[in-house]
Amino acid sequence: MLIKRDQNSIKSYFEDISNLKGGHADSVVIPENIDELSEFVKKANRDKLPITVSGGGTSTTGSRIPFGGSVLSLEKFNRIIDISKERMCAVAEAGVLVEDFKSACSKRGLFYASHPTEKSAFLGGTISTNASGARSFKYGPTRKQVKRLKMVLATGQILDIRRGDIILTKKDPIIPIPTYKMPEVKNSAGYFAGEGTDYIDLFIGQEGTLSIIAQAELSLAMMPYKIFSSFLFFKDVKDAWSFAQDARRSSALSIEYFDANALRLLKTKSNNVPPDAQGAIFFEQELTESGEESIINGWLKTIAKHNASLDDAWAAMTSEECEKFNQFRYSIPESINDIVRRTGYRRLSTDIAVPEDRLPEMMNFYVDTLKASGIEHVIFGHIGECHLHVNLLPKNETEHKRSKDICLAFIRKGVSLGGTVSAEHGIGKTRREYLEEMYGRQGIIEMARIKKALDPNWIKNIRGNLGISFYICYYKRRVWY
Ligand SMILES: Cc1cc2nc3c(=O)[nH]c(=O)nc-3n(C[C@H](O)[C@H](O)[C@H](O)COP(=O)(O)OP(=O)(O)OC[C@H]3O[C@@H](n4cnc5c(N)ncnc54)[C@H](O)[C@@H]3O)c2cc1C
Repeated sequence: MLIKRDQNSIKSYFEDISNLKGGHADSVVIPENIDELSEFVKKANRDKLPITVSGGGTSTTGSRIPFGGSVLSLEKFNRIIDISKERMCAVAEAGVLVEDFKSACSKRGLFYASHPTEKSAFLGGTISTNASGARSFKYGPTRKQVKRLKMVLATGQILDIRRGDIILTKKDPIIPIPTYKMPEVKNSAGYFAGEGTDYIDLFIGQEGTLSIIAQAELSLAMMPYKIFSSFLFFKDVKDAWSFAQDARRSSALSIEYFDANALRLLKTKSNNVPPDAQGAIFFEQELTESGEESIINGWLKTIAKHNASLDDAWAAMTSEECEKFNQFRYSIPESINDIVRRTGYRRLSTDIAVPEDRLPEMMNFYVDTLKASGIEHVIFGHIGECHLHVNLLPKNETEHKRSKDICLAFIRKGVSLGGTVSAEHGIGKTRREYLEEMYGRQGIIEMARIKKALDPNWIKNIRGNLGISFYICYYKRRVWY
């Protein structure tokens, strides 16, 4: 087991994409195998040493940034153990890059659907945040792919569970499952809840607060015969919205949206973005050999119905072209991250999803509020799942403060419409005050009870994620004494 203490060589572990400042830790601990991991955690538990679990460090919410204690990095857990075409699943360790996992599967003709855009995320990080990305429109979030998890609990105990092994009820004597109602939209905010919760689901989306995921068995699909993808440009943004509404009834793999400001960023990467476009949709569609023509004809009808210009449209039929389009789409969050780094302000973005029938109201609220604010912004994201990322790019302290108020107004609106405060990035440290908006004070207390049951000495991601520890200090008396 490697232990690094030199502050210069470990400072990169104190950052992620959130730009949250002030992270610090005494050491970074890098175990080589599950026994070393378990021994280290046992000792940390005995000594009450706080640990923060680190994956690839691509979180947008400061969730892997430590505030004291040790960082526990899973970077040596980087083996793909088995890929099985018969069972349509694979077993891999938590430190494997999602990108490497996908390409190993595709060499066997298999398809791993989780697609969280960022190429340096680890499998463990994506499970821990229940990440999604564009393709969850068809395949669902990471949760849906997880069949088995091998983990180390806060006591150092190794737990190996398969989906279906343990179903929790409200009367469970050890794990007090939360009673709050989860929104009926794509969601990665807070612990999974409700009567009949599968125990494994508690550890997906837990943001490193309940266990350290060491290994996972993940389900796979057959590699599609072909993926067709297209960028469509619209002169009237409302045509892009109505196109998305129709496209949701299709069998698309992904449906993504870009507003005029996102297109401005794209124009710096390509001269072929039409100058008068006010909005764009990028979609991907799996094709079958026999159905290719009829599927594409179906899309042509939808395109004509919503006034997208076929002359301006871009289409990709080969996997290389498709990858280029994905890279192009990926350049938007990358450009935003560059701007955030340049301005030095903390990243202010939303991750709200709302029920489909409430999306027009939410979109109008975004557009009207942002227009009135005069603050630079970009809206893009997973419109197929009614889930957009609004990014505010303040240039000075006054705008920064105002942007925070605007984000809170968006959160409150989203929650009032039955949505979630975080559909895929999790809560981490930068969104923790939003969680109470969604589940109420009682909901946070219920989460704290689970944390207490599984991590009695509060060693894991103690100062931060999900705001639980934050509330613990505040509610300690009420919860346990
Ligand atoms: C340009 C860009 C685009 C992005 N697009 C998307 C997107 O489309 N969809 C999406 O969902 N996300 C997206 N993200 C966010 C990010 O990639 C995901 O949140 C990802 O799941 C984080 O994985 P990671 O390995 O980097 O985790 P980290 O950032 O290292 O950690 C994230 C959290 O997981 C915990 N953790 C990490 N490993 C483990 C483990 N083995 N056991 C227990 N807990 C662990 C950490 O403690 C932390 O709380 C994007 C990020 C960037 C930079």
